[in-house]
Amino acid sequence: MRKIGEGTGPAQARFQGSLLGLAVGDALGMPVEGMRASEIRKRMGAVRDFMDAPWRMLKAGQWTDDTKMMLCHARSIVRCGGFDLEDTAREFVAWFDSRDWRGIGGATYESMSRLAEGVSPRESGMKGEMAAGNGAAMRIAPVGLLDCRDLEGLRRDVRAAAAITHDNAEAVAGSQAVAYAVARAARGDLEPGSLITDTAGFIGPCAVAERLEMAARFLAGGMEVEEALARLGTSGYVVETVASAFFCFLRTPGDFEETVSRAVGGGIDADTTAAVAGAISGAYNGLEAIPARWRDGVEAGGEIADLAARIFHIVGEPGAVE
Ligand SMILES: [Mg+2]
Repeated sequence: MRKIGEGTGPAQARFQGSLLGLAVGDALGMPVEGMRASEIRKRMGAVRDFMDAPWRMLKAGQWTDDTKMMLCHARSIVRCGGFDLEDTAREFVAWFDSRDWRGIGGATYESMSRLAEGVSPRESGMKGEMAAGNGAAMRIAPVGLLDCRDLEGLRRDVRAAAAITHDNAEAVAGSQAVAYAVARAARGDLEPGSLITDTAGFIGPCAVAERLEMAARFLAGGMEVEEALARLGTSGYVVETVASAFFCFLRTPGDFEETVSRAVGGGIDADTTAAVAGAISGAYNGLEAIPARWRDGVEAGGEIADLAARIFHIVGEPGAVE
């Protein structure tokens, strides 16, 4: 299974594209998080370059909690050679204790506090409507990569991983949807024309699936991105964000820059919509499809690409799907 020294062939480049794509989307959206789409359009037009955000003490190319938490997953997977619930929770607590939160969400803050007090990661997640946020789906790409050859394993690992913070059926379904798309792209058999049908079938009936199907109708009707995102939503609600991110990817499946820039333009939870769209588009198009100015300018790009390569070596060549 394990093939070290594969080089930087297309499969490894897709793994790296996914994690780097997530970080790039997060960093591009960072300075406009919370702004409405109309305000972004008026003040800066299309967002195509990293920008400083002195009010949050972050510089151009720096990312937020989405990438912080993605890195927790990636480091734990690399250290353990697979998904380990307890080790993942320890990574989360180490990040929480660092206080370098960069926009931590409410459900994540509450569950991290519980974990830090010694509550089990099986019990730490927030329940109820307030736990239907983006905080699990935004960080889940490394688990999608890890389990790209074993979709039942993916379903199980993603559920456990998401529930550490978001013990909510829609948050879990949204995370499974994102991980599924990342997995199909990373192993090289994602079909843009059937992605939404396939994803909805994989996660089963739920609000995330319904909103994804709405996105499919908008795509079939040729709706412009701006209108589609206004209708699908770009709030912190996972049902909205996952559908908007899929729409941005599927509107321009071969164009990473356009996908991520458009996702940022949707505003509100702009960093997360772009992080999710970037993770999927990066996995589909590979590292080289990410513009060099973003690859070179994103915070900790070298470490992120290295972790992705290490996950690739754990998985082995993913073209051979069972
Ligand atoms: Mg964020």
